[in-house]
Parts: sequence; structure tokens; C-alpha cells
Amino acid sequence: MMQHILDDIAAEMALETERGKVADYIPQLAHVDPNQFGIAVATPDGKVYSAGDADTLFSIQSISKVFTLTLALNRLGSTLWNHVGREPSGDPFNSITILEYESGKPRNPFINAGAIAVVDAIMSGREPTEILDEILQFVQVIADDDSIGFDYRVAMSEIDHEDRNAALAHFMKSFGHLKHDVDKILNTYFHHCSIAMSCEQLARAGLFLVSNGVNQPTGVKVINSQQSRRINSLMMMCGHYDGSGEFAYRVGLPGKSGVGGGILTIAPGKGSIAVWSPGLNPVGNSKLGSKALERLVKQTGWSVFSK
Ligand code: GLU
Repeated sequence: MMQHILDDIAAEMALETERGKVADYIPQLAHVDPNQFGIAVATPDGKVYSAGDADTLFSIQSISKVFTLTLALNRLGSTLWNHVGREPSGDPFNSITILEYESGKPRNPFINAGAIAVVDAIMSGREPTEILDEILQFVQVIADDDSIGFDYRVAMSEIDHEDRNAALAHFMKSFGHLKHDVDKILNTYFHHCSIAMSCEQLARAGLFLVSNGVNQPTGVKVINSQQSRRINSLMMMCGHYDGSGEFAYRVGLPGKSGVGGGILTIAPGKGSIAVWSPGLNPVGNSKLGSKALERLVKQTGWSVFSK
């Protein structure tokens, strides 16, 4: 049944001619072929269903912010919220506007400024290479796959074009909201955004958010159930930048998108869905990915707003 649904969605998406625009502000991402589409669903019983280019690696970009947030909550608990807020921003992912109004404290962990603040918080007491190893190992453990790695060309491409993120970081630092050296924080941030994964790997990595913080197939307790619930609510409210309301309206599930064209979506108790198509809509979310998720929810009834 699930396999059939995914095959149908992939076939339908293959016919789409309006595929959105590949992100080009990170030059390395501009080379990605927009005619790709992959989808995978991992379920708590250990099964993974997939269709299309579901085993092709892509740059997970902002989806990695879900994993650094999880690490940070594990490490700092609720004191993390001294560093970053938990309200939707209604602004583009790289906006500096509200930062000025709110004295340099980012609105939430999923806009760039917020993710940079999360990196600063988890760096305490560690060298940049240690924290990067820790982030990567964490992702490998939750996805149960130690082949996952950074895409260094993408990381370098972001470092070469870091002006906007550097501006955000320096601005926050000027308000006393960052402790570490901005170059070190950004280096860590760009590397975690550069992690390359396939839809199948990403769907597995999201399983802990399906089952109250525990990855059922591996038995690994990633985070406690209250925090798992809270991460899901942040994904629902803030996971698609200024397209978060539209995504909640159309899909009705917690989700986090990245400018590489991936979206990780969680259907609590049911499954973890990863979808990827590199072309983005005007607010920076995968155009076909969003469409495919809307189809999937229609077919499965998996919205958190339906019974
Ligand atoms: N690394 C990207 C940036 O900082 C992440 C953006 C995204 O995926 O939304 O611009």
C-alpha cells in the first residue's frame, strides 16, 4: 500500500514541468540537476519504503538544524532557551530585521541566526573539530549508518560566500549573544549544513521523532519524550521559514526543509518521511517536495490534524 502510494507520487512528480529554482547563492548547489525527485518513508517497525531518486545523496542544509537542536537540548536542557527563542519568525531564513528589534536574540533555532546561536551553545568546552565529529557521529547513530559524511565542497562554497551569515553572527555577537569566535562558529555551522544524505538515510534519521525520542528499530533513546514532542512542535511552527504557515495548512505535519531541496517530515506514531527535489519555491522550500507531501498526507490521512 505505502509502496504503491510512493510509486504513484514519484510517477506524478516526474511529469511536472514547473520544478522551481535551484538555490544558487551557494554556488556548489547551483550545479545540482533539478530533474530529480526522491521520497522515502521509514516506519517504526524498521521498514523503509522509497521511490524515485531516494538513494541519491543531497545537501541536507537546514534540515541539519533539527539534529544540532536535538544535541543542544540533550546537552543544555531548557537553558538552551536563554540563547534562542521558540517563536515563528515570519521572515526569510537569513533575515536580520527582527534580530535588531529583539536585541540580537534569534527568534527560533531554525532560522540561520538561531542555528548559529545553537552551534555557539554546543561548542562550549570543545574545539571546532571535536564538535564537528560529535555532530557527524550523532547523525550517523540516529540514522544507523556510518557512511554519512560532510560534503566539503559545499562547506567551502558556503565559507567563500559567507557574508550574510557572517553579518548575522557578528550582529548577534555585538549584543553579547555569542561566546565563541565568529569564524569558528560559522565554520562549524557551514559544515553541519553540508552533510550529504539520501532520502532513505534521512527518513531513518527522523525515526526518533516518530516514537517519543526513541529510534524503535535500533532501540537507541535519542532524547526524552517531552523534548521530542517539543522539537516536533518547533518543526511545525518554524520549519519552513516564512512558508511555515502554508506548509502546516497544506501538509499538517512537523517538517524541516533545507535549501538543498530536502524536507524531513514527521508523522508522530506513524512514520518519518524524507523527500527531495532541488527546485525551490519563492520562499526557499522544495516545490515538488511540498507538493508530494501534500499528496502523501491526502492518501494516508497522516496529518496531525486528522484522526
Ligand atoms: N547553510 C544554509 C545557509 O546558511 C542553510 C540555509 C537553509 O537550508 O535554509 O544559508
